[in-house]
Amino acid sequence: MSAHARLGIAPDNWSEVRKIAESEGCERREIVPNRTDAGRNKPINIDLPTAVKGTIPKHRQNLLKWNGWGYKDSQFRLNDKQMLEFTGTRYNIGNQILPYFTAWVKDVFDLDLSKPVASQPLPQVFPDPVVTPELIDCLQKENVEYSTDGVDRLVRAHGHTLREIFLLREGTFPRIPDVVVWPKSHADVEKIVKICAKYRLACIPFGGGTSVSGAASCPEFETRTIVSLDTTQMNRILWIDRENLLICCEAGIIGQDLERELRSHKLTVGHEPDSYEFS
Ligand SMILES: Cc1cc2nc3c(=O)[nH]c(=O)nc-3n(C[C@H](O)[C@H](O)[C@H](O)COP(=O)(O)OP(=O)(O)OC[C@H]3O[C@@H](n4cnc5c(N)ncnc54)[C@H](O)[C@@H]3O)c2cc1C
Repeated sequence: MSAHARLGIAPDNWSEVRKIAESEGCERREIVPNRTDAGRNKPINIDLPTAVKGTIPKHRQNLLKWNGWGYKDSQFRLNDKQMLEFTGTRYNIGNQILPYFTAWVKDVFDLDLSKPVASQPLPQVFPDPVVTPELIDCLQKENVEYSTDGVDRLVRAHGHTLREIFLLREGTFPRIPDVVVWPKSHADVEKIVKICAKYRLACIPFGGGTSVSGAASCPEFETRTIVSLDTTQMNRILWIDRENLLICCEAGIIGQDLERELRSHKLTVGHEPDSYEFS
C-alpha cells in the first residue's frame, strides 16, 4: 500500500522566486521527467525508507475534535463582548478578536450570535462491536494492533460531508465500525485482508477521514463485521527520486507530514488541497 507523487524544488523564499520569474517573463510549466526508467522498480536515487513522525496520534480524538474539523485547541469562540475569537496558537488568527469576521458572519449567514447552538456531548454508550473471539485471536496472533473502543470506532465512522458533521453534532450514525486495526506495513495490510476474506468481514480503509463524498461512512445495513483499516501508522517515505522529482511513500502519510519532511530535503509536493493537514 503505497503512493507515488510528483515533486517540485522548494526554494527558501517562494515570493522572491516568483518575482524573478515574472520579471524575466517566465510562464508556468509542468516539469516533465527526462528519464523513462523512473518508477517503483528502478528508482534512480533511492533513499532508505524514512520513518516519519506522524502528527496525528492513533487515538486521534486526543488531538482532534471528535465532532468537527481540525484541532481541539483551535476553534471559533464567542467572547463576552459578542465578538468572535479564534483560540490556540497554531494559526495566524490564533488568540485574536475578529471584529470584521464577526460582522461578516452576521451579515452573510444572518446569524444571531446571542443564540449559540451547542453540539451534543460525546456519546458515552456505543453499539456493541460485532467481533468474534476467533477474529480477536487472529489479530493478536498476527500481531496487528486493534481497538474495539467506542470512540475509536465512532471517529472512523464518517468523513466530512455536511450530513456526517450534522449527525455527529445532532444525531447518531446508524452503523459504526466494529473494530479498528492499525497496520504498520504493507505485509500487515495483506494479513488483515486475508483475515477479512477468511471470516467474510467488510473492510473500510481510513486515511484522514476527510472524504466529502460519503465514501468513508459505513453502509447502514451492513450485517458483516466492519473492520476499519486505519493507515496512519503506515507513513514512511520509501524513496525519493531527485532526478525525476518523484517520491514513493506509504499510503497513510498525511499532507502536512509529507510536506514537512520534503522541505527538509528542499523539495515540495507543490499541491495543497485545503484538507492537506489531515488527509
Ligand atoms: C475542509 C476540506 C477541504 C478539502 N479540500 C480538498 C481539496 O482542496 N482538494 C481535493 O481534492 N479534496 C479536498 N477535500 C476532500 C478530501 O480531503 C480528499 O478527498 C482527500 O483526498 C481524502 O483523503 P483522506 O486521507 O482523508 O481519505 P479518507 O476520507 O480517509 O478516505 C476516502 C475514501 O478512500 C478510501 N481509502 C482511504 N485510504 C485508502 C487506501 N489506502 N486504499 C484504498 N482506499 C482508501 C476510504 O475507505 C474512503 O472510501 C477536502 C475535504 C475537506 C473536509
